[in-house]
Amino acid sequence: MNPIEIAWLAGLFEGEGYFGFQSSLRAQILMTDLDVIEKVKLITMCRGAIYNKKPSPGRKQAYALQLSGQQAAELMVAIYPHMGERRRERILAGLRKWRDSPGPGNYKRRDKRYCDRGHVMFGRNIYIKPNGTRRCRTCFRAVFAAWEKRTPSRKKNRSRK
Ligand SMILES: [Zn+2]
Repeated sequence: MNPIEIAWLAGLFEGEGYFGFQSSLRAQILMTDLDVIEKVKLITMCRGAIYNKKPSPGRKQAYALQLSGQQAAELMVAIYPHMGERRRERILAGLRKWRDSPGPGNYKRRDKRYCDRGHVMFGRNIYIKPNGTRRCRTCFRAVFAAWEKRTPSRKKNRSRK
């Protein structure tokens, strides 16, 4: 996306777009002009299909395109500076929810909310290793306790101190 395309998308989404978080991050555009929707799909390289929205009686056929996950995030970040306040708030709220949500797409993210065993990675349960990576304290304690059991002599020495 070049700056002109980004500005064009911003104007379009300002008017006809929807941003939100429903199981994933979503950016949707709904319009009656199929050629415009096709242009959006081309520019954003959206993998999703354009779908026909069932028109309400007396209304024209409308078309929708939805970007989700990483693609939606990239679009939202790109057009954010162009957006009005209401849309900016929607975008920020959506991005934050997406960032904090557990899911396969978030597995490698440092700010993931759950450890691999499902403990909440929040507040005191976070142990930060000297190299800066975050670890689940509950899991760390379990590993440590198992290690202590295996080495009772060392435990004795520790408690004498
Ligand atoms: Zn854990």
